[in-house]
Amino acid sequence: MPRKAPALTDFRRIVVKVGSSLLVDVAGGRLHDAWLASLCEDIAMLHKDRRDILVVSSGAIALGRSKLRLPRGPLKLEDSQAAAAVGQIALARIWSETLGRHGITAGQILVTLGDTEERRRYLNARETLDKLLEWKCVPVINENDTVATSEIRYGDNDRLAARVATMASADCLVLLSDIDGLYDAPPGEGRTANLIPLVERITPEIEAVAGASGSELSRGGMVTKIEAGKIATSAGTHMVIASGKREYPLRAIADGNPCTWFLTPANPVTARKKWIAGSLEPKGTLHIDAGAVAALRRGKSLLPAGVKRVEGEFARGDAVIIRDLDGAEVARGLVAYDAGDAAQIVGKSSADVKMVLGFEGRVEIVHRDDLVMG
Ligand code: GLU
Repeated sequence: MPRKAPALTDFRRIVVKVGSSLLVDVAGGRLHDAWLASLCEDIAMLHKDRRDILVVSSGAIALGRSKLRLPRGPLKLEDSQAAAAVGQIALARIWSETLGRHGITAGQILVTLGDTEERRRYLNARETLDKLLEWKCVPVINENDTVATSEIRYGDNDRLAARVATMASADCLVLLSDIDGLYDAPPGEGRTANLIPLVERITPEIEAVAGASGSELSRGGMVTKIEAGKIATSAGTHMVIASGKREYPLRAIADGNPCTWFLTPANPVTARKKWIAGSLEPKGTLHIDAGAVAALRRGKSLLPAGVKRVEGEFARGDAVIIRDLDGAEVARGLVAYDAGDAAQIVGKSSADVKMVLGFEGRVEIVHRDDLVMG
């Protein structure tokens, strides 16, 4: 049965990705401040409605090059890195001020590919995002273009936004750009193309209409948007591509303006748990007492107090197997401490953990969001 397009208000945690051309007038380098103000009004409405909102904003390089009056045309890597350094400061200020008018506090996060791909750094970035959201801030995220070199960079914020959505277990990703969605013929083919309102699954046919990667036809960034769609939907995040060329672009989606939805079969928590249970090779074992087994079965996190013994050479963020004292597997999860630190805090009350380690770690040794019962 064909499914129907969701509404933004169906979602609890939404990532909004804003393309450079929406924020900055590429020719004149002027900021589209009225447009940004309208987007922030939309964001404030959702935020007031208790939705968690994260922004992935491009525009550092575009703003930087305009401030520095760099000539038009492609920039050398070192030039774009330096332009981003200038532009990112301005970009952060603009978001902070415009969201601030609605009483919303923005927090800047600059990430590199490694922060989203390497498990330990991934966990660190995720904890920062979680904390900001708990404080009702709006994280404003961009790639750290000043240090990202060509081999280790995303280069496009579509895929970055999809990884951020996965990292934050967001249930919706909105890609705002200068096109209003995916059309059923590649651009430039000369025949009339129709907008596809709903993609239930990204098939090879869908990829084909996005245009071949690296070709002239892939202009408009549809290829990276489809890549983003794959990352998002396989991790339980719905995605929508919509035009940001009108003011109040989020309200426009709700009002039924053309856009393309990519549906996910999963929900973010289930997808993440599947990843923990299935794809990660466990690096160690935590043996836990009966009280802790019972707590986990009630959906609680695993605290150091319930752990009797640890085994293996694991690092923070690795997958571990959790066993009861008879050796039966109870659960799997991502551990919040390196093996050495974990060994020191087994059996300790949460209050003692800081004293033993000499630093403030997480209260949980495995957080319930990172746990999958066996
Ligand atoms: N991170 C780049 C910037 O802020 C933009 C990448 C993109 O446009 O996708 O300038």
